Amino acid sequence: MWSRLRQNIAHWQGIIITAPSIVAVAFLGNTAGLFQMPEIAIYDHFMNWRPQETADPRITVVTIDESDLDQYNFPIPDHKLAQAIKIIKQQKPRAIGLDIYRDLPVNPGYEQLIAEFATTDNLIGIEKVIGKTDSELVDPPHTIPTDRVAFADLVADVDGKIRRALLSIERENGEIQLGLGAQLALIYLAEEGIFLDLENQDKTSFRFKLGKATIKPFSSNDGGYVKADTGGYQIFLNYRGWEDKFNTVPLRDILEGKVAHHWGRDQIILIGATAESLNDKFYTPYHSSYLVGDMPERMAGVLIHANITSQLISAALEGRPLIQVLPEFLEWGWVLMWGIIGASMSWLFFKQNLFELKIGFLGNVLVVSIIIPSGILVGVSYWAFLQGWWLPVFTPFIALTLSALAIPNYKNYELYQIACKDSLTQISNRRYFDQYYPQIWHRIKETQHPLSVILCDVDFFKLYNDTYGHQAGDRCLQQVAQAITKAVRSTDLVARYGGEEFIIVLPSTDRETAYQIGQRICFQVQNLNIPHQQSQISSIVTLSCGVATSCPPHYATSGVLIAAADSALYEAKAKGRNCAVVC
Ligand code: GH3
Ligand code: MG
Ligand code: MG
Repeated sequence: MWSRLRQNIAHWQGIIITAPSIVAVAFLGNTAGLFQMPEIAIYDHFMNWRPQETADPRITVVTIDESDLDQYNFPIPDHKLAQAIKIIKQQKPRAIGLDIYRDLPVNPGYEQLIAEFATTDNLIGIEKVIGKTDSELVDPPHTIPTDRVAFADLVADVDGKIRRALLSIERENGEIQLGLGAQLALIYLAEEGIFLDLENQDKTSFRFKLGKATIKPFSSNDGGYVKADTGGYQIFLNYRGWEDKFNTVPLRDILEGKVAHHWGRDQIILIGATAESLNDKFYTPYHSSYLVGDMPERMAGVLIHANITSQLISAALEGRPLIQVLPEFLEWGWVLMWGIIGASMSWLFFKQNLFELKIGFLGNVLVVSIIIPSGILVGVSYWAFLQGWWLPVFTPFIALTLSALAIPNYKNYELYQIACKDSLTQISNRRYFDQYYPQIWHRIKETQHPLSVILCDVDFFKLYNDTYGHQAGDRCLQQVAQAITKAVRSTDLVARYGGEEFIIVLPSTDRETAYQIGQRICFQVQNLNIPHQQSQISSIVTLSCGVATSCPPHYATSGVLIAAADSALYEAKAKGRNCAVVC
């Protein structure tokens, strides 16, 4: 069983080495934050590609547009807001969110507005709680109880887009304060008998059950994010859409009584500015997509709050998916899987076509192992996104592509190894030596350094074969090759020159050093202590070395240098073997 396993491992070696190494590289790239923006850009595209959803009939946005500003001025005076709230209240909505800062009176009518706040239990005001300095914060309207003040802050990514909903924050006094969207949703759901429920089994993970939904907080490396800010309690904002996904009515229609009967009953009413000139607008994943068409560039803050409310209510009541991510180790498993797919496709393709290398081959590798699997990757990820799962796409694409491209290189490397290595001893073969030797001559002459060559021949090896058999002879040659490699430097080339002869090329090595290395080789081989009863000079295997050196400025030719080493070897044999002779 083990040998079969080993065979299989050897068979798939390229994939087993390539895919994990590439994924390790991808991991480093990801940790450095290189893939964050592409991952998020793909997320935005998926968000845009999704089929349109139906409008949410439970939410009405009372918009304050340019015409309203023309008519009532800016800021809208308090008495107009108070009047609108009074009218809206008569419709018996579940909650009213006034997404307009009122830290200071905008008379006339401040007292009226305060009175409306005092008499309307389901009216929620806003404040701004996040800012670098106190001057950036905005207080809530005066005198309203704190449990009816939500914060209106939104968290933007580095590119300024709002992709996450800030549901709550912890105040300095330890109290939890809700964001406007979350607070309105909870009021709505309370009437359906649905309340926040801290999931019993795992309080430390801050998961909440809300009706059919399980809410999990955003953490800094979720999805494509790398080290993102996780302040407060955030979740991915699963947008429903633009104004057309909610009921909308302009403020003036309310004030002028131009709305239908019972238009707001049991709904959530949000009042906020949509006028371009008020600049309460934000970039969203919909921005910059070619699919946006004639949509406005930025989304009004009040619409983003409406989206947050709608997301929570739909998730709790209908089980509309929230956007979830895999745990990090599974994300890396997913990336590794695509790395393996890229490497395997390329490997199989290469195996079949190895002997039919023709033009267009690389093109085929590209199609079979990169383009088709990438298409499947995007398709599967998009399908998962539709189910509410954000899987990495760019990182697996990188792993897939690099793995697929690495395989031909690995294969080339393997072929090169086959072509240049001696299969018995695993050192370079004669063919490699024949290629290397002229090149090293060229380099040596350019740098005007000496070049030495050592030829080695095992002593009485014919007798060794006769005594111990050819297989033992082979094993002996393997050991001798290792011993020689150990005796030389990493810059020297050791090659099998023929039968039991080895050649060592020593660049930039003078005669004396080459001679010492020759002696070291004899010593190392002796040290192997391989018994050789029939040897006429020893009881163990020995070898003889012929050393020759060529020095500037009067270089010998490459052939003459080898001939000199050969005659030195002949001399070493004549001198009694197991020694090095320098020419
Ligand atoms: P000398 O000390 O003079 O070199 O004596 P020798 O017996 O080593 O003589 P020679 O170099 O002529 O012998 C070479 C022998 O090496 C002959 C051949 O059987 C053996 N040989 C060559 N290649 C291989 C091989 O790949 N495996 C084995 N087992 N033997 C080999
Ligand atoms: Mg020989
Ligand atoms: Mg020999």
